[in-house]
Amino acid sequence: SKKIVIKIGSNVLSDENGVVDKKVLHNIAEQVNDLISMGKQVILVSSGAGICGVGAINKWSRRGDINYKQALCAIGQVELMMAYKEYFADYGIHVAQILLTRDDFSDPHRTLNIRNAMFTLIDEGVIPVINENDSVSVDEIKIGDNDTLAALTASLWNADLMIILSDIDGVYDKDPKTESDAKLIDLVENADRLIETISIGGTSSFGTGGIASKIEAASRVNKFGIPMLLLNGEKENIIRKSLDGKSRGTLFL
Ligand code: ADP
Repeated sequence: SKKIVIKIGSNVLSDENGVVDKKVLHNIAEQVNDLISMGKQVILVSSGAGICGVGAINKWSRRGDINYKQALCAIGQVELMMAYKEYFADYGIHVAQILLTRDDFSDPHRTLNIRNAMFTLIDEGVIPVINENDSVSVDEIKIGDNDTLAALTASLWNADLMIILSDIDGVYDKDPKTESDAKLIDLVENADRLIETISIGGTSSFGTGGIASKIEAASRVNKFGIPMLLLNGEKENIIRKSLDGKSRGTLFL
């Protein structure tokens, strides 16, 4: 697979205080650099703006309203991109920010422009870092979670593989955070059927998607013939290890 979309979850990138995990992000940059050296092309879809916003202004939101959340995302997006810029610069890689909403995928004219911008960036050796444009995303035009955004991006770009980095090793038959005997599912050949057979626990505080949105994203890209890998982004060199068969994860075909 040559064209790879990698989605990075907010729990992977930051701790609960909204501080970007330097070790993790540095390792992600290293792994992306490895992939590029192997002749692959990479687009990143990154969550974490909201939690980074909390970290930046150094207080938890007492207000849960939409405008406050949008403000946190607007603040945190800058922190996030600064971190990406810094860590990818260590490998001489430039990053570029693309903020999208649902409308961008439904209007053919916009879709074409985005696709052209993506191809141009990649041709220039730049890594696009995509996120939802939270400060303009009211409900009607919201994608809602970055698993779906990554899936839309992967199909728009005709990716060969999509990787979701989360804080668990893959999909289990029940929530591994609360059930100690949960079993990892290595291979899923029908994502739609899987969702009816497993038990799904709650989402983390800042993740909006949860495991259900990851399975739905898999279903979406699988329909386009794009395989999806769900991996634990907190583990060092997880992409390389998994591609070498040295670490577990869930593969959706
Ligand atoms: P991210 O921020 O990476 O998008 P989420 O918090 O949205 O991650 O979703 C991952 C979480 O889903 C895991 O931390 C896990 O606790 C929870 N979860 C619930 N049920 C399951 C399950 N059956 N298999 C795997 N994870 C599950």
